[in-house]
Amino acid sequence: MKTTCANMDITHEDRVVIQPLSPDWYGHKVAALHMLRLDLVHPIVSGNKWYKLRLNIMYAQDHGFKTLLTFGGGFSNHLIATAYTARKAGLACIGVVRGKYPVLTPTLQHCVDEGMQLIFVTKEDYEKQGEPEWEQQLAAQFDELYIIPEGGDNEWGRKGAGLISKFIKHDYTHIALSVGSGTTLTGIRNKTSPAQHIMGFVPMKQGNYLTSHIEPHLDPTHNTNWQLFDEWHFGGFGKWNDELLSFMNDFYNTNNIPLDIIYTSKMMYGLRQLTNENHFQPTDKILCIHTGGLQGNESVQDKLFY
Ligand SMILES: *Cc1c(COP(=O)(O)O)cnc(C)c1O
Repeated sequence: MKTTCANMDITHEDRVVIQPLSPDWYGHKVAALHMLRLDLVHPIVSGNKWYKLRLNIMYAQDHGFKTLLTFGGGFSNHLIATAYTARKAGLACIGVVRGKYPVLTPTLQHCVDEGMQLIFVTKEDYEKQGEPEWEQQLAAQFDELYIIPEGGDNEWGRKGAGLISKFIKHDYTHIALSVGSGTTLTGIRNKTSPAQHIMGFVPMKQGNYLTSHIEPHLDPTHNTNWQLFDEWHFGGFGKWNDELLSFMNDFYNTNNIPLDIIYTSKMMYGLRQLTNENHFQPTDKILCIHTGGLQGNESVQDKLFY
């Protein structure tokens, strides 16, 4: 693939750091607990979203596509990231949104402000994504349409997510990250040493079903040493309670890192419980990935100290 897209230098990869967490926070139970601050890559196109989008957008540009179309819910980090990058790349952009929003969520309003055209569809129509007939109907309505699946969940998304591995040194025994579609976990599993254990924390109920979605996309030589945890969903995707909020405030006070309410807070909550329950060896070195998503905190901003 050509890399002709100078105008795609919209993020700040040089700002990404690995930050040690306070040993007091994890009770000195492991040798190290570090956080890869992918959230610092960009305030809007944050964390893993940039990696899943970049090769998709390069592909679309190199092949003369003029319009991007993708899918998401009312709080989707993927939608706003796509809206922003499409505008920067000079592409038109359509967001297919599940459900009706007579009043736009802050995320959807930002999408509109970035020039994204929103189409609201029923749950049934939304589930049709990926069906060739429906995609042909859509393609006929728009100029040179390139469709990115929900969550950037395609081959370019997985390959792009694999680029995150360049930040991950071999001496980490465990890599922890939050999982939505599993695209990021797949990309990282395929590009890291099979000796490193990958822990995926799913923020929705019964998220373990994702195992069968992830497996077919893994390189057979890397389809080992990974596991999903789905018990820390706090009632389901997008749900939270006061305990989670005070956990986030406490985490910020101790480590000076803001977490998001949908993904990374639930991962860190689960990880701390596992640590407390002696899930790890004292010699283990853990890298947690901050996949971003802080724009989604807007709806709980008044309850957070940051
Ligand atoms: C989208 C998102 C995820 C999930 O990524 P997948 O590749 O879909 O598994 C995790 N964390 C944050 C902050 C996200 O916005």
